[in-house]
Amino acid sequence: MNVLVVNCGSSSLKYQLLDMTTETELAKGLFEKIGDQDAIFTHKRPNADKLERVEPILNHKEALRILLDILVDAEYGVIKSMDEIDAVGHRVVHGGEKFADSVLITPAVMEALEECCALAPLHNPPNIQGIEACQAIMPNVPQVAVFDTAFHQTMPKEAYMYALPYEYYEDYGIRRYGFHGTSHKYVAQRCAELMGKHMSDPRIITCHLGNGSSVSAIKGGRSIDTTMGFTPLSGLIMGTRTGDIDPAIVPFLMNKTGMNYDEVDTVMNKKSGVLGISGVSNDFRVIEEAAANGNKRAQLALNMFHYKVRRVIGAFAAVMGGVDAIVFTAGIGENGIGNRDAICNGLEYLGTRIDSERNNIRGKEQEISAEGSRVKIFVIPTNEEIMIARDTQRITASLKK
Ligand code: AMP
Repeated sequence: MNVLVVNCGSSSLKYQLLDMTTETELAKGLFEKIGDQDAIFTHKRPNADKLERVEPILNHKEALRILLDILVDAEYGVIKSMDEIDAVGHRVVHGGEKFADSVLITPAVMEALEECCALAPLHNPPNIQGIEACQAIMPNVPQVAVFDTAFHQTMPKEAYMYALPYEYYEDYGIRRYGFHGTSHKYVAQRCAELMGKHMSDPRIITCHLGNGSSVSAIKGGRSIDTTMGFTPLSGLIMGTRTGDIDPAIVPFLMNKTGMNYDEVDTVMNKKSGVLGISGVSNDFRVIEEAAANGNKRAQLALNMFHYKVRRVIGAFAAVMGGVDAIVFTAGIGENGIGNRDAICNGLEYLGTRIDSERNNIRGKEQEISAEGSRVKIFVIPTNEEIMIARDTQRITASLKK
């Protein structure tokens, strides 16, 4: 069975075609700057030359048409006809409280997805556009939605409620939802496998550290807490996002500077985080280089990031009554050797000991804790696509002709 995994952003479309009998990748690629005259299309197949084209692409539907043509192309294709695509799995950012699991897309689901747009006005609309484009071009192929928020729907109420008047939760759905759920679930499952245990056994803290970052506490195989909240702005310090700040800073700043809501929102989401502190970049590699060259604000940005992650690990160990494994994933988690070392430095009281030699790896699945460390530490490259494809396979299995 072949599953096409689609992840639509406002001007991008990422895809991967997987053969699920062997869970192997047949092709993957990316459309960037959709809507522009010079949109970029990159298509890759394992062990083959990659295709890169710059051309006008009007919208997501046109991108999908181009994609399907390429997938069956004599030179760059990997399948003979579109009939070899058995199902499509879509990454959808926000499923609100309606979706605690992936779901087969039906008209009723589409209506519910529209309702979730209020909760994720930047992310859900392009996800919906992607689904509609696939429905138009492949009307007979089943489509499944896989949500970033679904894995965190198991958080207990005391973890997900904000101490605002209760009506705001009832009337507007204001609560913590959490994001990166597909990634946290994947690495937690792999972590348990690597430990030779069932996922419901170990207490795991998963650190998804990338341009957007979040940490989750996983106990009994379920997410019981996570750092992101109502939106992906909260929690850790990120590339350009503030993470948690005192909410009173927002009206204070508006009052002081005369910034309006949109301007403050831009500051919080795009100009803060390690970029705002360092004044150098949101890219950790650039910040590390600046810090190594004596830039004090770059060093402060790194110190703040490491401190916040360590602080959350301590907090999540406390709420789980201990921790058995810590996992690092995503761009910084998978590649940031010095970052992992700095975060773990000071966590020895929990029973963690990092092995500097084992830690000297990038983008590779490996245990990095020292022999005898009570808490295991792992680097596990995330794979959201495989999770989306597995759910798509599971959910469409019963529909098979
Ligand atoms: P992601 O959002 O998961 O794609 O992660 C992007 C982030 O990973 C960027 O901020 C990069 O700075 C960071 N990153 C990628 N490679 C490295 C590396 N070798 N060392 C430290 N950070 C890295």
